[in-house]
Amino acid sequence: MISFELTDSQLEVQRMARELTAKRIIPNIAEQDRAQEYNPQLIKDMAKADLLGFCLPEKYGGLGMDYISLGLASEELEYGDTSARVVLSVHIGLYCLPVCTWGNEAQKEKYLVPCAKGEKLATFGLTEPAAGSDAIGIQTTAVKKGDKYILNGEKMWISLADVADYFIVFAWHDLDKKKARDHSGLSAFIVEREFAGVTTSTIHGKLGVRAGNTGSIAFTDVEVPAENLVGNEGEGFKIAMFCLDQGRYTVAAGSTGLIKACRDACVKYSHERETFGTPIANHQLVKQMIANMEAGYEFSRLLWLKAGWKKNLGEPNTRETSMAKWIACREAEKAAAEAVQVHGAYGFSDEYPVERFYRNSKGASIYEGTREVHTLMQADYVLGLRKDKPLRVHLPIVEQG
Ligand SMILES: Cc1cc2nc3c(=O)[nH]c(=O)nc-3n(C[C@H](O)[C@H](O)[C@H](O)COP(=O)(O)OP(=O)(O)OC[C@H]3O[C@@H](n4cnc5c(N)ncnc54)[C@H](O)[C@@H]3O)c2cc1C
Repeated sequence: MISFELTDSQLEVQRMARELTAKRIIPNIAEQDRAQEYNPQLIKDMAKADLLGFCLPEKYGGLGMDYISLGLASEELEYGDTSARVVLSVHIGLYCLPVCTWGNEAQKEKYLVPCAKGEKLATFGLTEPAAGSDAIGIQTTAVKKGDKYILNGEKMWISLADVADYFIVFAWHDLDKKKARDHSGLSAFIVEREFAGVTTSTIHGKLGVRAGNTGSIAFTDVEVPAENLVGNEGEGFKIAMFCLDQGRYTVAAGSTGLIKACRDACVKYSHERETFGTPIANHQLVKQMIANMEAGYEFSRLLWLKAGWKKNLGEPNTRETSMAKWIACREAEKAAAEAVQVHGAYGFSDEYPVERFYRNSKGASIYEGTREVHTLMQADYVLGLRKDKPLRVHLPIVEQG
């Protein structure tokens, strides 16, 4: 049965995330963004509010909440700033949920429980200097030597690269050409920052998400214990795509929160600002922009809720998640551009938050599958050119309650 009512525990997560956003993000974010400063205190605040593991099973240190709660928290955090939602995307979406699904019991005990409890921070490393959309173009290698894999390569554009404790990374364990074509030479590994040969750095001068850390990770003869292989050898591509199904979901919900932030800023400003003897809220072309934001918000929200509902049931949702991510990011870019427009010259300065929204909105059409990648996926589904095969594992099924 479909219900649009949020349950008590979903409302509670929404309230916690909203409170953290109001008290800990919004008051300082303009300054941090201007200074391009990552705020380590935010992670501590998120951990204290149980926001780093709430939708993981209680057995592994989480609160056992559902995936709609994850979407709600993403919406609320990105209402404050994209950099805060990115923490949920990489830590929970791209790392914890995949390790919970594909990892073995020993890996979950060692590498999931501390993350779910907010004691450790984790991220996801797929992209490299020469390969983003074309994931099988990556060049990082993992050569098996006894009971270890020796990792060499470089990951780039990795969120939280310079601050995370654990990374789920993807590398070729087998360079056979046939295995490259069918992806079966790719594997996934958990790597610790503390392993010898791991070095990281921060990328400066980004267009948006300036209060977030984004960087590179280099692996030089890193000895990764064989027990850190996630899933089986050759399952790396499937695991990477599974990670993206969860990360993209948080991006979709987060972008929906960004649309709402644009809408609310415009509603406030259009009642205050007067031209031609009346608040600009009374001009029909301004109303048009605000109505567009409202429509974008509503349908983006419905799309991520649909994907979350399927996740709760343990049903395949790659198609729905891709649609939600594609549309929410597109609508967020439009809403942010129109929010600057509604603010006129003031929207062109950092006196108002909409210029930050505008810069932040761009990234989401690039990461976790570019706009073009999702467009092609959706076309291929309807053309019958793409069918997702069932995976051997699926997200833990949760009670929606
Ligand atoms: C702020 C930020 C944070 C990020 N965080 C992470 C992270 O935590 N972990 C991680 O692994 N990566 C991360 N990324 C990297 C991101 O996932 C990649 O940038 C993305 O996958 C696109 O890859 P690319 O930049 O190499 O672009 P390319 O793949 O080189 O694409 C360039 C252009 O060509 C288009 N294009 C490519 N192929 C096709 C095609 N077949 N048909 C049509 N058009 C095509 C693309 O849509 C794009 O417009 C992050 C990026 C940013 C900006």
